[in-house]
Order: sequence, then structure tokens, then C-alpha cells
Amino acid sequence: MFKKLCLIGVGLIGSSVARAAKKHGMAESIVAYGRKEDLDNLQTAQSLKVIDHYYLDMRSALASADFVVIAVPVGAFESIFRLLQPHWRDDVLYSDVGSTKGSVIDAAHLVFGQIPGNFIPAHPIAGAENSGVEAGKEGLFDNKRLIITPLEDSNCFMLDKLTRFWEGIGASVSLMNVTHHDAVLAATSHFPHVLAFSLVNMLGREDEQAEIFKYAAGGFKDFSRIASSDPTMWLDICMANRENIVSLIQQLQNQLSEVKQMLEGEENQHLMETFKYANEARQRYLDQLEI
Ligand code: NAP
Repeated sequence: MFKKLCLIGVGLIGSSVARAAKKHGMAESIVAYGRKEDLDNLQTAQSLKVIDHYYLDMRSALASADFVVIAVPVGAFESIFRLLQPHWRDDVLYSDVGSTKGSVIDAAHLVFGQIPGNFIPAHPIAGAENSGVEAGKEGLFDNKRLIITPLEDSNCFMLDKLTRFWEGIGASVSLMNVTHHDAVLAATSHFPHVLAFSLVNMLGREDEQAEIFKYAAGGFKDFSRIASSDPTMWLDICMANRENIVSLIQQLQNQLSEVKQMLEGEENQHLMETFKYANEARQRYLDQLEI
């Protein structure tokens, strides 16, 4: 249990952390730091009792905090580390929820020269396509995975405290190295978002002539859901993990070329095998979710 949790960013994820911490009694008080332009969001967070107070200056927000969670878009991490640096204390646990870990480590490295042992990077594998404080949910992390990517110099005591916090708010904690995290998340989350944005972008332009969306069924709604995600946040994520995403785009181009050839050559059997393999692979994924 922490005395004072300071959130930097109270959007979907930050406010869900606050709500869950309150529900499970993991922090005595919760405050937030935000910029002047975040004022409406911060006032809403306070009026909804998601946070107890908010501050527009970092020094006041951090005063006597023993746990700091950075929950801003990944492109803003370097500026946040620069604001944190003059107030950095060895007895405080610092962590984050950023979707990419390599870029977060790079930003910390740029600002601090080396990664402080009490900054332990983390990423909850839970979310939604909505943004902002009102989109947060106290049960967002229930039975969801939380990946911690500790570094060589990570402080074991702080790592243990972070693990116990996330388990305390309902998540199941796994440890992973940074490179593996970014490769896995590129395949399962970042690249699928690029696909959804690209497909809806392509069809959206055609739709003006062909009324495609009017006749779209449930499958299109399922496939396109994540294209409703916040463009600014996903621009940051895709740029931060672009090498992995570009490699996956190349692999998909190869796969689509094969499918194109099968269709043009009327290779029914070959196409059936491709669809069957995908069908069975998805079933294995669903079975594993139920364990
Ligand atoms: P969000 O709902 O848009 O919230 C981001 C918050 O950060 C907003 O309150 C925003 O304020 C604030 N902010 C932005 N730039 C800032 C800056 N420079 N200084 C201070 N505050 C700033 O986004 P989110 O979905 O919670 O995402 C937060 C983090 O969680 C991101 O790093 C994301 O990669 C990660 N994450 C997201 C998901 C997901 O599904 N959404 C899942 C796992 C992890 P304004 O609203 O006023 O701009």
C-alpha cells in the first residue's frame, strides 16, 4: 500500500489505475500532474473523485509521493522525464504504462544518462478504443496481463513493490525483456492497429462512391473497431515501434501476394489450406484465453 500515488496523465489508463487503486485500497491518496491544456480533464478527474487533487506544477504534484506512474502518450515521455529529473528521489518507485518499452527506455537514457534503478517500466495488456478520464474503468485490469520489463540495474525491492501493486489491482504479472516485448506487442497490437487504420482509410475513401459502409456487416464492425482508437496516441506508438511494424508489413505483403496468386490461379485447395491453418491457429489462441 502506497501513501501517495502521483499520476502523470489521467486519461483512459491513468484514471483506470487510480480507480482500481482506490477500489483495492492500494494508495491512501492519489494526485495527478497535468499541463494547463489538460485542465478540463483534470477537473473532471477530481469531480469524479478519481483523484484527490491535481497540480499544474511537477514539484507540488510530487511532494511526499512514494509512487509515480507515467500514463501519457509515449511521444511525451522525454519531456516528462525532464520535468521529473530535478525532483528525482531514490526512495520513490517510478513506473509507467507506455505501450512501447524500447522508446521509453531510450527517452530515460537520453535524460538521465543511465536508467535509474527505481524506474521500473511496465505495460498493462488492457485498454479500449476510447480515451480520456471518463473512459476509465476500475475493473480494466481484472485478470489482464501486466508486463514488467526490468533492466539489469533495476532495484529488486522496487520491482517487488510494483509487482505487488499490479497484482493487488487484479492483474497477472509477467516479466519480459524490452526487445521481446516490443516485437510481441508489434505483432499482437501495434500492427493490427495499422491494418485496421489502413483498411478503413482505403474503404472510407472508396465509400464516397460505393456506399460500402452502409452495407457493412458484423465482420467489418469487428475488424474495424480498433480504427476508432485515438490517432495521436497510435501515431506515437507506431513511430516508437516502427522497425518491428515495418518488418510485419513486409511479411503481410508476402502473404497477400501468395493469396492473390492463389485466387488468380484458382488454387482452391491451396487457399483452403491457408484459411484452415488460420482458423485452427485462432482456435488455439481462443483455447489459451480460457485457461
Ligand atoms: P489518453 O486517454 O489519451 O490519456 C493520456 C493523458 O495524458 C491525457 O490525460 C492527456 O491529457 C495527458 N497528456 C498528454 N500529453 C501530456 C504531457 N506532455 N504532459 C502531461 N500530460 C499529458 O491515453 P491512454 O489510453 O490513457 O494512454 C496512456 C498511455 O497508456 C500511453 O502511453 C499508451 O501507450 C498506454 N496504453 C494505452 C492503452 C490503450 O488501450 N489505450 C493500453 C495500454 C497502454 P489531454 O487529454 O489533456 O491531452
